Amino acid sequence: MRMLVTGGAGFIGSNLVRIILEAGHAVTVLDDLASGFRENLDAFPSVRFVVGDVRDPEAVAGAVAGAEVVFHLAASVGNKRSIENPVCDSEINVIGTLRVLEAARRAGVRKVVYSSSAGIFGELVTLPIREDHPVEPDSPYGASKLAGEKLCLAYGRLYGFEAVALRYFNVYGVNQRFDAYGNVIPIFARQMLRGEPVTVFGDGEQTRDFVNVKDVAKANLAAALARGVSGAFNIGSGTRVTINRLVALMARAAAAAPAVEYGPPRPGDVRDSLADISAAGAAFGFRPAVGLEDGLAEYMAWSRKEIT
Ligand code: UDP
Repeated sequence: MRMLVTGGAGFIGSNLVRIILEAGHAVTVLDDLASGFRENLDAFPSVRFVVGDVRDPEAVAGAVAGAEVVFHLAASVGNKRSIENPVCDSEINVIGTLRVLEAARRAGVRKVVYSSSAGIFGELVTLPIREDHPVEPDSPYGASKLAGEKLCLAYGRLYGFEAVALRYFNVYGVNQRFDAYGNVIPIFARQMLRGEPVTVFGDGEQTRDFVNVKDVAKANLAAALARGVSGAFNIGSGTRVTINRLVALMARAAAAAPAVEYGPPRPGDVRDSLADISAAGAAFGFRPAVGLEDGLAEYMAWSRKEIT
């Protein structure tokens, strides 16, 4: 079966491409290389690679041709980026998603699996977070991901294909590069490997649910292959750690003893986050398998090669 991965040259996309190929399917990638890297796909010469933007209907139609399943990962990612450029955020995340859905329905795609975000929930009022937690996003990004999710589910109902939205918690792992809008694990990895102090915002006792990208990739494929499954599902590890504990685990994985600089809490940060992942378990057998210590050891080894 051929499967399209939009954003397939990116961090999560390239990990997904690997497991789809390992499962014996054919892959098309659509990526404009704005935040993806061609070298993420160097190991996969069989991939049909379309360089293009999800806002461009022709590029999208060309990429969808022949695909039974579409994984829509291409996005402008992050709260900060969306606050700086809200119009661009929605052009890519809302209009781009519509372009993908229009192409998918015209091509008679069987299933769309959309990459959503825990950012759709906004302020967290109950823990663990179930799928029916209120959705009140606090950023243009959270709002655009929610719109994308709702569009996918509406198109699925309107045109009779299956649609799944996966709400990712804090995803980390191989191919996650440091950038200006980066997440905490690449930031700490870089600081540790450069011998710099790690910068903790607040007292470090805030918690996050970190899920390894391999588990996220597997969740995508399982959701695609599960017949008759549509809807929105949380994808996390179902466990949480404090940022102080994360520092300790990463330091051990890096054999480093970093200084820790505590700064003011980051405005707008939620204090605690934890996914209830039982719905994804029941619907398509999602069971995260990579423990945080193993995942961080692998990530630090990869980062060391990347950074030095
Ligand atoms: N964080 C930190 N130092 C940094 C970057 C992030 O202490 O240099 C903390 C941040 O305050 C938050 C957690 O790490 O509590 C996760 O941050 P990230 O931006 O990765 O994800 P999100 O806050 O969106 O869950």
